[in-house]
Amino acid sequence: MIIGLDVGGTNIKGVLINGRKVIAKIKVATKSRTDKKILVNQILSCIDGLKNKASKIEKIGIGIAGPIDFKKQTVLNPPNLIALRGLKLGKLVQDKFGIKTIIEHDVNCFVLVEAILGAGKNYKSVFGITLGTGVGGGMVIDKKIYRGAHGSSGEVGHMTIEKNGRQCKCGNKGCLEPYICDTGIKQTAKQIFKKQIDSLRIFDDLAKKGDKRAIKLYETVGKYLGIGLANIVDTINPEVIVIGGGIMRAGKFILNPAKKEMKKNILSQSAKKTKILKSKLGKFAGAIGATLLTL
Ligand SMILES: [Zn+2]
Repeated sequence: MIIGLDVGGTNIKGVLINGRKVIAKIKVATKSRTDKKILVNQILSCIDGLKNKASKIEKIGIGIAGPIDFKKQTVLNPPNLIALRGLKLGKLVQDKFGIKTIIEHDVNCFVLVEAILGAGKNYKSVFGITLGTGVGGGMVIDKKIYRGAHGSSGEVGHMTIEKNGRQCKCGNKGCLEPYICDTGIKQTAKQIFKKQIDSLRIFDDLAKKGDKRAIKLYETVGKYLGIGLANIVDTINPEVIVIGGGIMRAGKFILNPAKKEMKKNILSQSAKKTKILKSKLGKFAGAIGATLLTL
């Protein structure tokens, strides 16, 4: 049996799998993003809880919301989990339980599981994007994570799509992220609806009912997403791009304008046919993906 954990700034999700079957799940609110002791203890207690449900654990995989040095198995500087900065979390867990433990950037866990079991399972080259508080990206080729020369491949949220555009958290202006992440969509919604928007959920119903402003919002967001997709296709030319994240509830309202904009911007005629798919594995994708990690 294998334990997979997905440690995010909002929740920690975990699964226990036997073969490919999920036999137990947990989801708890992250107690602290900044206090190392509190967060590490919470991670250990989540693992302990799942471990108690199993006869024998072969391996533990942990996805972390932020960049890591995979070779050194060290957490780098995750903006939403600074408690873990510089921590050799894999070794710490391994020493505590005596079980082989691997850590990875959560977006890579997401792409890996979608490429092996999800929307991309029938393809050799899968690019994955997650839309949420931030915008993550990753690539899986022949069912293996591609990390690039310095381990930083896939950071599509920070490709420039609008010179001198919106301010990004990274310090640059006009990155893709501030246009298609949750706060970016709220900012666009505020411009269209002329009022403060707290939750993005309301737009799904509005769009389905034919509300012109909600449709315009998704069209605007979709167009930016489409520019990003075209850049990915022109640079890497994957067989398929899988997109996950809460905003994908909007489905065709966001995907149709995105695909249209993508086709308009891609250079190669044949690459215009690149498949764009919604992720299949849901909220526990990252945790299940973590069980598939190998060193
Ligand atoms: Zn940026």
